[in-house]
Amino acid sequence: MKFCPSAFFFEAESYFQEKHTLDLKRVVLIHPGREGRFFGKAAAASYTLMRLASLVPDDIDVEIWDENLGPLDHKIRRELGPHDLVGITSKTLAIETAEKFGRLAHEAGVQVVAVGGAHATLMPEDVARWADAVFTGEAYFTWPQLIQDFINDTVKSRYNDTEWADLAGVARLTNRVIQQVDENRNFWTPLLEVTRGCPRNCSFCTAIRVSGQKMRFRPVEEIIEEIERRKIDRFFLTDDNFGLAFRLRPEYVEELFLALAKLPLRGWTTQAEMMVSEYPELLDLARRAHLDKFFLGFESVNPKNRRELGGKSKGLTSQYREAIKNVQKRGIGVVGLFVYGFDEDTPETMWKTWEFARDAGLDSMSQTILTPYPGTPFRAQLIQDNRLIPNTPWRFYDTSHVTYYPRKMTVEEFEREYDKLCRAVYHPARIVQRGLRSLHRVSKYSVKMVPRKVFSSFSTDYGYRKTFEWRYAA
Ligand code: SF4
Repeated sequence: MKFCPSAFFFEAESYFQEKHTLDLKRVVLIHPGREGRFFGKAAAASYTLMRLASLVPDDIDVEIWDENLGPLDHKIRRELGPHDLVGITSKTLAIETAEKFGRLAHEAGVQVVAVGGAHATLMPEDVARWADAVFTGEAYFTWPQLIQDFINDTVKSRYNDTEWADLAGVARLTNRVIQQVDENRNFWTPLLEVTRGCPRNCSFCTAIRVSGQKMRFRPVEEIIEEIERRKIDRFFLTDDNFGLAFRLRPEYVEELFLALAKLPLRGWTTQAEMMVSEYPELLDLARRAHLDKFFLGFESVNPKNRRELGGKSKGLTSQYREAIKNVQKRGIGVVGLFVYGFDEDTPETMWKTWEFARDAGLDSMSQTILTPYPGTPFRAQLIQDNRLIPNTPWRFYDTSHVTYYPRKMTVEEFEREYDKLCRAVYHPARIVQRGLRSLHRVSKYSVKMVPRKVFSSFSTDYGYRKTFEWRYAA
């Protein structure tokens, strides 16, 4: 028989394809969670994992396992095996759970447990103790590489994604992932990305260490296409500081709002800084684009903390009041984000914050304890001053535990006042009061919208109350 080169290569390719499917049966991406479900659904699916799952080639099975939808220990023991590639994403507060899952996966015979996310990026050496492959950075380039390396049995211990990906076309959600996650059935609020990165430089911020200080933008048509394909009618933006786009790219924001205005959305929310209040035309457009509320990072009412706030706010409550008024009068709600525990803070600062929030008519307020996350200048300073509380578990890095010695309060005093304050702010009567106020504002613009806004009027406060309650679950 005559030798035929093309037949030879066809045979060889088939051999490798067969080997490939034998070796890598499935990719399982795990999201550690602790909130679980409320009223049958979890808060939000991991957008990061949805995107990484979308980068898995079509001929390899991929599944996302979310602990918020149900316990995973037993599932990991029973269902995983040597032909599964396991990826785990984790923030700092969940890294101990991620480690437990990694250990269980190894016991089940899994050979490669890859770990990425904020904690792995900011403190890779901590994760390298137990993970087979540690991902730093965004992983859009290195994750496909790992899949190939698994097939070739050349997995490396470290995958450093050093490029900030152009957001155009990157990791577009595939239909199989959208169908599998089934957000409308399983989750309350889908996440969506419009921009990433923030040029500010707040001393405590991890976002800029993970997403970079250059603001990147997704093309508007891609965002609209994704909303329509996911069939979502409400969402929360994952953007670090969407508000800065008002100043940096107003024409982009206008294009986005005009496109969103044409969609039948129930509403959406985003984090921003108070500078958005200086753009009345864009705020009017935002309202037409179904924006429900801004989460504005005021951070502190103590002007002595301004050095830590990266230039976006100065601790001046008169400016905050003006900004809140300007946004709310256009029918958009304002949730104030505040952080306690800067070096100049005392219990009085905390109670003044609450007084301000009530007087200013905020729709809700987030009050968090300053947390020295890995990779931040704030943590570096505390280490230098020997002010980290020794042996604090990472699960306490949830912004409602004190993890360092404050300058002008004792740890006990800080915790006690924080507890008292949270009980006051998130008391059911206060939640109802703020929720009704938000509904009242909505009704001024459209009575028809009121039934559709009931959930969003109360859910933010309810979520913060749950976060605070975790203080007593650990
Ligand atoms: S403004 Fe927000 S995202 Fe930007 S550096 Fe400060 S905390 Fe981080």
